[in-house]
Amino acid sequence: MKAHLYAFFALLLVSIAGCGPAFLADVTLMNAHIAQFEGDSLYYVYGHVAVRDGKILSIVPYREGENDVPSAEDSVDLQGAYLYPGFIDAHAHFLGQGLAMNSVNLWGAKSWEECVSRVEVFIAEHPEKEVIRGRGWDQNDWPGAQYPSNEALVGLSNKPIVLSRIDGHAVVANNVALELSYIDGTSHIEGGEVLLRPDGQPTGVLIDNAEGLLNVAQVSEPERIQALLDAQARCYSLGLTSVHDAGLATEDIDLIDRLQQEGRLTIPLYVMVSESPEAIQLWKTRGPLKTNLLEVHSFKFYSDGALGSRGALLRQPYQDRHDHYGLPIRTYDYMQNAAGEVALMGWQMNTHAIGDSANHSMLKIYRRHAPAAGRWRIEHAQIVSAEDRNLFGGPQEILPSVQPSHATSDMDWAVERLGAQRMPNAYAYAELRKAAGGVLPLGTDFPVEEVNPLYTLYAATARKALDGHPASGFQMENALSRAQALKGMTHDAAYAAFQEEELGAIKFGYWANFTIFTKDLMDCPMEDIPTMPVQQTWVHGVSVYSSTTNN
Ligand SMILES: [Zn+2]
Repeated sequence: MKAHLYAFFALLLVSIAGCGPAFLADVTLMNAHIAQFEGDSLYYVYGHVAVRDGKILSIVPYREGENDVPSAEDSVDLQGAYLYPGFIDAHAHFLGQGLAMNSVNLWGAKSWEECVSRVEVFIAEHPEKEVIRGRGWDQNDWPGAQYPSNEALVGLSNKPIVLSRIDGHAVVANNVALELSYIDGTSHIEGGEVLLRPDGQPTGVLIDNAEGLLNVAQVSEPERIQALLDAQARCYSLGLTSVHDAGLATEDIDLIDRLQQEGRLTIPLYVMVSESPEAIQLWKTRGPLKTNLLEVHSFKFYSDGALGSRGALLRQPYQDRHDHYGLPIRTYDYMQNAAGEVALMGWQMNTHAIGDSANHSMLKIYRRHAPAAGRWRIEHAQIVSAEDRNLFGGPQEILPSVQPSHATSDMDWAVERLGAQRMPNAYAYAELRKAAGGVLPLGTDFPVEEVNPLYTLYAATARKALDGHPASGFQMENALSRAQALKGMTHDAAYAAFQEEELGAIKFGYWANFTIFTKDLMDCPMEDIPTMPVQQTWVHGVSVYSSTTNN
């Protein structure tokens, strides 16, 4: 008998033992291919899943003529559909996504002129907005690939206009916003840049810490509530059942907690607190937070910027900007002290590190300060020197947390930044996974990338952009198998949040979170993956999206 059958019968015994005649399920999902992981492979059990109080009560394999299914108040016939553990995004900006959905959409603009005309349309359609915000521009997609300059925004509005680059690591602001913030040609800040014209005046482009110089009205609470609800609806429609928000302010965390308590927000979130010395002190006093829907016991740090805006900290200069190594957001000493403090609190430290120099420094700091099984995370781990990879894993279980669609978004220009020699160290997901002991939490970084978790599955396995290029895939030696990628989007993401005993698998006692498709993600043609519609999404035993009722 195969090992997985033993495992399955063990599971069954547990469920039968806990399932006397007095038990009644709330709902049973009938006739499904139920995905089960075994090591790095995935197999299906055909049968039924009974759910009670939001959790999995039993998994009953189908047997001809027999019916061991606990009686349930309700049942749903899935007619042979494929039931996966609910997808989790291990690195995203949940509130940021909702805010982006309510601002000028600059994704995919093919020129700065196109961005400006989209801003113009938005201003005409939204006279109520006090601040015009936009997001998604990427100068790498424009002719000449030059940073924009804000002259074209003059006269569009007498309100502040602030447009974020796709990665959030640069903005272009109009003169109204600059003047309100007292930013001029002499403004300067560590870890940031205020770009200037030849005449010494700012172009409006502010990179990394320079964004913090902006002083325009904050987003109001009703706008933030709308953003959270919009983000939730988008996530559910694409099969996401939980999200790790990679950095929120305490007031946003409190707002989420309140909306969840009120039952308005139902999506489970694992939220990292945006670090600052004040935030660390505050949460040291408050202590960790854990409800059925919200967990807070980690901090998000930034050690460098992004590759696209040449903020990623490299060990050797940029190939396309000599004598430039990127921007350290925090000093080594600051990170070292912070790591000591986070370790003392018993919290998890999650640090954005893109460049090989940032990864090197942070891995050394983690090795020195992380507690055993601390699961401290390097977010992105985009360019990691080969000799640094083995600093992942170990007794401290240091984790790389990666976003496969970054590889396919960046692959066409990353070589210009890095040069061919450094490319094998970039987006090396299979290598990182091996180094971390076979665990690789996957995410999207939405709204930097699209929310759709199937794009992650496709990018991780096919290593192609959505238009199918390059035909043979990008650096395929670092492709993941479909089962590895699905595990990264479920079990490994849960593991990175210490939730692998409650989420990320379809097992007795786990939360009844499911992502359901009519087709088999393991076996369908690769090119069908990105457009596969989600049939149903379930969270805590409740159907939160169905393609038949939500269309
Ligand atoms: Zn992020």
